[in-house]
Amino acid sequence: MKSEYLCTVKSFRMLTPTVFEIAFETDKNLVFEGGQFVSIIIPGAGPKGRDLRRAYSIASAPEARPYELCVKLVENGPGTQYLYRLRPHDTFRVLAPYGDFTYRPQTDQHICFIATGTGIAPFRAIAMSKKFQDNLPNSAICLFGVRTESELLYQKPEEGFQNLKLMNAVSQPSDSWQGFRGRVTHYLQSLGDEYPWLKTQFYLCGNGEMIQEVKAFLAEKNIEKSKIHQEKYY
Ligand SMILES: Cc1cc2nc3c(=O)[nH]c(=O)nc-3n(C[C@H](O)[C@H](O)[C@H](O)COP(=O)(O)OP(=O)(O)OC[C@H]3O[C@@H](n4cnc5c(N)ncnc54)[C@H](O)[C@@H]3O)c2cc1C
Repeated sequence: MKSEYLCTVKSFRMLTPTVFEIAFETDKNLVFEGGQFVSIIIPGAGPKGRDLRRAYSIASAPEARPYELCVKLVENGPGTQYLYRLRPHDTFRVLAPYGDFTYRPQTDQHICFIATGTGIAPFRAIAMSKKFQDNLPNSAICLFGVRTESELLYQKPEEGFQNLKLMNAVSQPSDSWQGFRGRVTHYLQSLGDEYPWLKTQFYLCGNGEMIQEVKAFLAEKNIEKSKIHQEKYY
C-alpha cells in the first residue's frame, strides 16, 4: 500500500558531471521491490503554487539502508533542480512504493536488461536484491547506453553489478574509448545468432526512443510481447 514518507538526506554526491546520488532515510520503514519507484513531492513548484510530483526509481537494494536515488540534472527541470539543492539533514516527502517493473524469477530463462542513462537505477536495485541473488536466471547481461563515457555509472562490480555482465554502449565517445561505439540498440543487434533470443526476458528502461527502437527490433526477432517489460522515463 502507498504511504507518505518523510525522508532525511544522509548524503549527496555527484556520480558523473550531470548525475547525482541522494542517499536518504525515512521516518518509517519503506518496503519495496527492486525496480519500484518513489513519487517525490516538489513543494509549490506547480501551477498556482501547487505541489508537483516526480517519479524516481530507487537505485539501492530493498535490503540496504540508506535508500539511494540516482538523478540526472535537467536544465530548468523543477524536480531535478529541487533535488539538486538538497544537502545532508534536509528533508523531503515521497509517496511510495509505486510500479510493477520488478524481477519475475524464471531460472530457466536468460535476462537482458537494457538501460539508457539513469534508466540503470532499477536494474541496480534488482541486481543487488536478495530476490535476484536467490533466483539467478540462466544468464544475465545489462546493456547500458550513454552518449559519452563520462556519463557511465556503476562501473565497478562492487557498485552493484557483480551478478551480471554490464556491457556499455557509448554513442559519441572520445577517440580513446576502447569499448562499443554506437547506441544500445546497435549493441543489442550485434549480439548475433548465438544469443538465445527466444529464451530471454527483456527489461527496458530509459528514454522512449530507445524503448521504441528496441521493441521494433525484438518484434522482428519474433520475441513474444509477454517477454518484454518496460519502464519509460520520458
Ligand atoms: C517511473 C519513472 C522513474 C523515473 N526514475 C528516474 C530516475 O531514477 N532518475 C532520473 O534521473 N529520472 C527518473 N525519471 C524521470 C523523472 O521523473 C523526471 O521526469 C526527470 O527527473 C525530469 O524532471 P524535472 O522536473 O527536473 O524536469 P521536467 O521539466 O519534468 O523535464 C524536462 C525534460 O527533461 C528530459 N528528461 C526527463 N528525465 C530525464 C532523464 N532521466 N535523463 C535525461 N533527460 C530527461 C525530458 O525531455 C523532459 O521533457 C523517472 C520517470 C519515471 C516515469
